[in-house]
Amino acid sequence: MAIPGSHRRYNPLLDEWVLCSPQRLERPWQGQLERPAEESLPRHDPGCYLCPGNARANGRRNPDYAGTYAFDNDFPALNPEAPELLEGDGLLVARSERGRCRVLCFSPRHDLSLAQLSPAQVRLVVDAWAEETEQLGAAPATRYVQVFENKGALMGCSNPHPHGQLWAVEHVPSQPLRKVMSQSRYHRAHGSDLLGDYLERELREKERLVCANEHWVALVPFWAVWPFETLLLPRRRVPELPQLGGDERDALAEIVAGLNVRYDNLFRCSFPYSMGWSGRPLDGDEHAGWRLHASFVPPLLRSATIRKFLVGYELAAEPQRDLTAEQAALQLRSQPARHYLEDEAPGGPPSHGGSR
Ligand SMILES: [Zn+2]
Repeated sequence: MAIPGSHRRYNPLLDEWVLCSPQRLERPWQGQLERPAEESLPRHDPGCYLCPGNARANGRRNPDYAGTYAFDNDFPALNPEAPELLEGDGLLVARSERGRCRVLCFSPRHDLSLAQLSPAQVRLVVDAWAEETEQLGAAPATRYVQVFENKGALMGCSNPHPHGQLWAVEHVPSQPLRKVMSQSRYHRAHGSDLLGDYLERELREKERLVCANEHWVALVPFWAVWPFETLLLPRRRVPELPQLGGDERDALAEIVAGLNVRYDNLFRCSFPYSMGWSGRPLDGDEHAGWRLHASFVPPLLRSATIRKFLVGYELAAEPQRDLTAEQAALQLRSQPARHYLEDEAPGGPPSHGGSR
């Protein structure tokens, strides 16, 4: 879909719009293009609170784990024992939010990311996402479990050790609530699920696809806000991570690794991003129109050091993007499936498939 000039694109999942201005990329560019110095990390960092065997701030010591390792966050944003509170006069309203925050180490290796772990190692991460979600969801008070990863200093992540988090909360948060509304409305009107129909459309049009396998498709959504934002969708309508079958988990590990390799290759750096899984809320409703999905939201625009900011018009009015979703997909799709560090360091990380 070649749309010349400025236009707005509708995001049916969040019921909001994004302004696209592809002509802005034609501005002359004289900024920095050089690579940042490759950070060389040790396999094990004695000062890292996530590495095996190390002591954490509260004095607890991590076990000598070999695969993944999950524990309760020592400085949680949410507390399961906060007192019940509901105050409000219709104008100022506050209520308590109790919950649990877990940290999930993806690997004992301090120096590797999801792009550099083998699919078998990423499969352990997939299993941990599913198992932790199931366990947190089994608590009667849990209404929603958010699985996410903040990667890179640009995203405010202070520790390079590969890890993510899970937060379980007692109310369905704002974004998933909007996705409930959109997907339920669509399901009532069409008898099919919004993201399933959207995926079929993308598979026909092909120009926003990044990589795919038997069970999963990674694409740049038509309505993407961030330059290289991607949406990861299962081909089967699965509502939540714990319901993924063995083959789907293997294929998910492969595509997560493969997508990360393409990201890293794009600007030849460990690509920063925020990734979040969206599974159905656990409020007792079946959510027949909900399809599990993950969003990768990277901030980079032109190089390893030039990032996109959401400021000015974007903060005050609505998001705007320069590069179109189709251009971003083409750039990501054109990246080799082999990690660039493999060519620089013989015996480095394994390559990943994920053919279209
Ligand atoms: Zn570490």
